[in-house]
Amino acid sequence: MRGPTSNRGAAAGAEVVSDIAERLAELADAGLRRELRTVNGPQGRRVYLDGREVLLLCSNNYLGLANDPAVTAAASGAAYRWGAGAGASRLVSGSMALHGQLEKQLAEFHGCDAALLFGSGYLANLGTIAALADEGGCVFSDELNHASIVDGCRLARAETVVYRHCDTEHLKWALGRSRARASLIVTDGVFSMDGDTAPIERLVELARDFGARLLVDEAHATGTIGPGGRGAAAAAGAEAEVDIIVGTLGKALGGYGAYVCARAEVVDLLMNLARPFVYSTALPPPTVAAAAAALEIVCAQPERVDRLGNNARHLRLALESHGLDLGPGDAHIVPLITGSADTALALCERGLDGGVFAQAIRPPTVPEGSSRLRLSVMATHSRRELTEAAQVLGVAATELGVAGTRAPVPQAVAA
Ligand code: PMP
Repeated sequence: MRGPTSNRGAAAGAEVVSDIAERLAELADAGLRRELRTVNGPQGRRVYLDGREVLLLCSNNYLGLANDPAVTAAASGAAYRWGAGAGASRLVSGSMALHGQLEKQLAEFHGCDAALLFGSGYLANLGTIAALADEGGCVFSDELNHASIVDGCRLARAETVVYRHCDTEHLKWALGRSRARASLIVTDGVFSMDGDTAPIERLVELARDFGARLLVDEAHATGTIGPGGRGAAAAAGAEAEVDIIVGTLGKALGGYGAYVCARAEVVDLLMNLARPFVYSTALPPPTVAAAAAALEIVCAQPERVDRLGNNARHLRLALESHGLDLGPGDAHIVPLITGSADTALALCERGLDGGVFAQAIRPPTVPEGSSRLRLSVMATHSRRELTEAAQVLGVAATELGVAGTRAPVPQAVAA
């Protein structure tokens, strides 16, 4: 309520507003101010953006499941039968039969003892890392890990050591120097902005040699790589050796939410100590039912995963035929690195002019000097659509002087 004592009075208010306006202006000057772009209609392979139809080349709906009729029917059926919300956290009264069924399904999918649902992948990483990496411990984190891992490290009481991207020699050196009581190695499975895959086999060896636990964030790998879409750990034949798998329901599985798969006692500990699990409302029934239906589709139709891989190869080859260097990855995430933020924005606009929507990604999401278009392929794209998109972006990139070469990655500051 406003009154004479309110800190929202005219003089104080003017100061606060000018500080915020200044910060927004700074972001705009640096080409880093972000704005929402509104899509009309479902997340199909083509969407309506600002009133015109464009090819969607920056969605994580990799398998097209967000709008699959079986998935949406499961969601609406669950809303009808179970209601719109869970009403409470899992540990109070919000744990419904649907949650347990999906957890069982996810644990089976990854060949683990148990699974635990979280509100989102961000929360799963935050809660899991903070719960497992206690005082006296140390988290070893790849410098290009996702922001939710970085924030999990910040929240954990343990120390954090950031190792160079996928550099297992650097990691080995750091592990060898550590005097920590317990260590946790954390890596993205498929790196979210570069589409390269973590060296899981070597990470497993190092974890074993140094008595550390290994956590693989399969956010972009679940449903997209590995046998049956079971992720990067499965692709490396190392599912049994990876201690903790984090996955999301919001990307290839087309919905929202996330999970952790691990040994039963680890899951038990998380249920007790992972604060985003303990202190937030359980996932709503329609979301849980949608994820269960999506997972069934992934298991029953592995050809969707194959199609995604083929489409990724097709787009990469088509872009490379325009002389673009796409870096070492081979997955469905394709970075088109422009270096400067302004060039990334310009390339995004040129894409839209040609009917292709690929959002510009700028710092701090990616390191300084490595702004890019992050292209993401969907299994539902046709070859022709991808060839045409590569033509539009290839020509525009050449005209803007973009070679796509991987910019040097400065040392990230993870904690
Ligand atoms: N991990 C990685 C590697 C991600 O890329 C993301 C989302 N971009 C997350 C976790 C967070 O997942 P969610 O969107 O479910 O919060």
